[in-house]
Amino acid sequence: MKLVRFTLHRDLPATTPDTSALVKYGVVEQGTVYETGPFWSERSGAAWSLAEVRLLPPCWPSKIVCVGRNYEEHAREMGNLAPAEPVIFLKPPSALAAHGDPILMTPLSSRVDYEGEIGVVIGRKARQIPAERAYEYILGYTCVNDVTARDLQMKDGQWARAKGFDTFCPVGPWIAPATEVALATLRLRTWLNGELRQQATPAQMIFDVPRLIAFISEVMTLEPGDLIATGTPAGVGPLTAGAVVRVEIEGVGTLENRAVAP
Ligand code: ZN
Repeated sequence: MKLVRFTLHRDLPATTPDTSALVKYGVVEQGTVYETGPFWSERSGAAWSLAEVRLLPPCWPSKIVCVGRNYEEHAREMGNLAPAEPVIFLKPPSALAAHGDPILMTPLSSRVDYEGEIGVVIGRKARQIPAERAYEYILGYTCVNDVTARDLQMKDGQWARAKGFDTFCPVGPWIAPATEVALATLRLRTWLNGELRQQATPAQMIFDVPRLIAFISEVMTLEPGDLIATGTPAGVGPLTAGAVVRVEIEGVGTLENRAVAP
């Protein structure tokens, strides 16, 4: 079973919030989407085939918390040392894009990179949670592409602009619930135009997911639906117009988006 947010309106923007009556929640089983109440409460009885619906980003986060330099080899490829504590930053919810949506390149940047990442979706309000109890707060896992204007990231010294363009946060296609999939079994792979570019397991993270939840929730209260992008492994690289990025997590699913010229 997978958890989805979806709509029957093909053109509904990926950034449409839960307050819209056009946004529905549901679960997917064998190619059928069964509608549920908000946040995957009980089923309503309505069902569609997966092909009939438009999948939206699978959660509606009040904030998207990202982790920089959480894999040693990636820190090194960027010319940085492994950090002594997690480096966190935010992406705005206005950057969300759904599975299949275009990544809109920007004329303000001459180097836009993909970053495949394991996304952790929060299931319960979490404030000052010790690492030992962090798993109680995880709803599930999803695929994230932390698209980054690398030149602007270097130039600005902080990352809000480089990471914050509209469509620079594709997420999806759905959430694999933590009750069904163990974090340790996830395998992340990023493909660019069908070529394998990134490959990692959660065991390679410098700060594991429980430590990240403890660290972040010490600073800010995490709300149900909030998304943590846990960092990208080595192998990031530039997108050109027309390029297709697939972020695949074994046991979760595959998020596919095409870069489109500005
Ligand atoms: Zn990242």
